[in-house]
Amino acid sequence: MSTPDMTKGLVALPEHNVALATRKVNGVGMDLLGPRTRHGLGWHRAQGNGAAGWLSRPDVRGLTDWAISENADATMTEINRITGTDADMSGWAQGPYNSAVASEDARQFVAAYGGFASVINMHLESIEVEGFYDDPIHDNTRRDLARWAASRAHDDGIAWDRYPIKPDGLTHNYGHREFCGVAYKACPGSVLWAYINGELIDRVQPILKAAQVGATAAKPAGPVYRRAPMPPAMKLDPMPDATMLNGVTFRLVNREFRVEALTGCYTSVGSATRSRSSLRPGDVVRIVYLHENNKWGIAAGGSRIPMAHLSEIVDVDQAA
Ligand SMILES: [Zn+2]
Repeated sequence: MSTPDMTKGLVALPEHNVALATRKVNGVGMDLLGPRTRHGLGWHRAQGNGAAGWLSRPDVRGLTDWAISENADATMTEINRITGTDADMSGWAQGPYNSAVASEDARQFVAAYGGFASVINMHLESIEVEGFYDDPIHDNTRRDLARWAASRAHDDGIAWDRYPIKPDGLTHNYGHREFCGVAYKACPGSVLWAYINGELIDRVQPILKAAQVGATAAKPAGPVYRRAPMPPAMKLDPMPDATMLNGVTFRLVNREFRVEALTGCYTSVGSATRSRSSLRPGDVVRIVYLHENNKWGIAAGGSRIPMAHLSEIVDVDQAA
């Protein structure tokens, strides 16, 4: 058995946007408590969507370090960052602490890192998974959560066969409810709670193993892409104003759109199978047909694209 390679940075984070919440005010949704050190991950369910933008507002009484969509787009955004300096914002991800109903893991965490409630928000890197407690979480989101957790666990010194137990003997993962009791708050809710206590471990261990000891065996595989089928209408000249695909009407738009946040490209509407690498902010993509609900488009190459973070490029009249 080879010795695990614990070089920091060996396990990459998943693709994500960075939109740091720089307008927050001390005492409203976050506190400047001094330098933070990550000692684990805090898991939350947002009870809604648009968490990254909402939590970043200066008047909103809450902040986590990350937010991710529960849907196939799995859009992931870093909104706050642990830097180890006095500028670190300890977001109000978590509260309140009630030692009488806290889990044994939660009590150990608080005791180990200072013995007072603020250490939870200071020293857990937190994430909101969008959607409500009982909503399903798409496989793309489950995959990216595992990559995020694996990257952090590796950098925090956890060997693959010990995950999720840290070198100091405490666990790396904490649900909100563990500190306040389920009766006060069920966060992160049934679906995410089940995920972090089972599937996450099953997904993270092979990622860590491949990176730490897999020099000759399975290195982490890159994404597998499959070509998106070209709709028959897109082979016609001229293309019809509307076409039916799988019983759904798509209408011809044939316009360029600018990409505003990382956006996946898929082989079919709602699919988890990627057709190519993700579109990045600033990319321009030609959308030929638009799904009747306007939430999906078909790009010139045939890829099915979620439209949430695309905006149409409007021609500007350049008349002098
Ligand atoms: Zn929570």
